[in-house]
Amino acid sequence: MTVKKMQKRLFGTNGVRGVVGKELTPELVLAIGKSLGSMRKGRIAVGRDTRTSGDMFVRALKAGLLSTGCDVVDCGILPTPALQYTVKGKFDGGAMITASHNPPEYNGVKIIEPDGTEMGDEETIKLEQILFNRSFTTVPWDKVGTETAAPEHIEHYIKAITGYFSGKPGKGMTVVVDPGSGPACLTTSRILTEMGCKVITINGIMDGTFPGRLPEPSVEGLKNCAALVTSSGAAFGVAHDGDADRAVFIDEQGRFVEENQQFALIAQHICHNKKGIIVTPVSTGQILESVAKSEQCSVEYTAVGSIYVARTMRSLLEQGKPVIFGGEGNGGLIFPDHQFCRDGGMTAAMMVFLLSSTGKTLSEHVDQLPKRVIIKEKIATNKGAEILELLKTVYSHEIIDETDGIKIHKKTDWVLVRSSGTEPIIRIFVDADTSVTAAAFYNEVKNHIRQILAI
Ligand code: MG
Repeated sequence: MTVKKMQKRLFGTNGVRGVVGKELTPELVLAIGKSLGSMRKGRIAVGRDTRTSGDMFVRALKAGLLSTGCDVVDCGILPTPALQYTVKGKFDGGAMITASHNPPEYNGVKIIEPDGTEMGDEETIKLEQILFNRSFTTVPWDKVGTETAAPEHIEHYIKAITGYFSGKPGKGMTVVVDPGSGPACLTTSRILTEMGCKVITINGIMDGTFPGRLPEPSVEGLKNCAALVTSSGAAFGVAHDGDADRAVFIDEQGRFVEENQQFALIAQHICHNKKGIIVTPVSTGQILESVAKSEQCSVEYTAVGSIYVARTMRSLLEQGKPVIFGGEGNGGLIFPDHQFCRDGGMTAAMMVFLLSSTGKTLSEHVDQLPKRVIIKEKIATNKGAEILELLKTVYSHEIIDETDGIKIHKKTDWVLVRSSGTEPIIRIFVDADTSVTAAAFYNEVKNHIRQILAI
């Protein structure tokens, strides 16, 4: 059973995001704090990434929470997964001020449930209703909450990851860490050093203007990181997005490891030692399923968004199903033995463990993976629903999956067309065996879309 996607008004796939002072104002964040405090009475942990507007928004968030009688524990600057780890089982909820991979002018809020997962759609819709109806349950002067600072929680997170691996698997390994001036400046270098690695850091000073590169860890943005990997003779480079729930890799030859390949590679390692189910959105590359099947494991698909992956993993486990791994094809991986959220620090640590336990280089691992051809495109349009309806009719004789958008299967190739939840665009993904079949399938689908759009 997968978790269904529901329509929200304000929150997107991963919380609220917006340009500071335009879509995202202190007034809005104050109202989010009051709404969350009205729903989840008790102790709430808050944290933020390194953005220049972070301090302003965390104060608004805390004021809202305190006004409803919640006690606030401020964990300071830390990665989103570190806050999620902190909240899990120890708090009545949490909220993170972050815009993840968005450019510096953005900020946002992610709400964390007491079990450490991001708030699901049903509860988020309830929160939105409180916010839009302004039905806050604020308290009188003698019931206002208290605030304490707890910067030590980040240490517990670091220890949880290093403690997951025995010994010093990174001994003799040099690794380049690129936290991108984000909160992983405080964590990933520490984690890998404690695992025995020699760590070289780039963009390792926290700075909300992101002077070295943008928070999205792109091929272009990681050129300096890649150059440092090859010049230092490092085993690999690892880079994070702006809140370090994702990690991407550079191999020892300085090549960017495409995120679906990275997912498949770590999945291959996990499946080799443990049999069960991997959970991922319908947009993840076929390479994952190929690898899982060759290791006698299976894949369960969800709507696009890490909350659907995390919640489906939990739901399957509650039904007694053996869920061993989950994640997205963007470097956001979920290790259920650790916690039910994407965790960039854990992903970096897992790569150290993988390389040390196999004795092969990262490029050797990547090169042995099955080869697939992927085409990705986005088209600006507000006719997404109409296009999906047309494709559903045209391809009614093929195998169609409507978990999120429409996924059309032809033998081992597929095309996924879906509307964005936040922008007026449609996304087209093609995943095929060869460049010839990929181009043919892509052109065929595009020709159908031309009945509606002039593209
Ligand atoms: Mg992120």
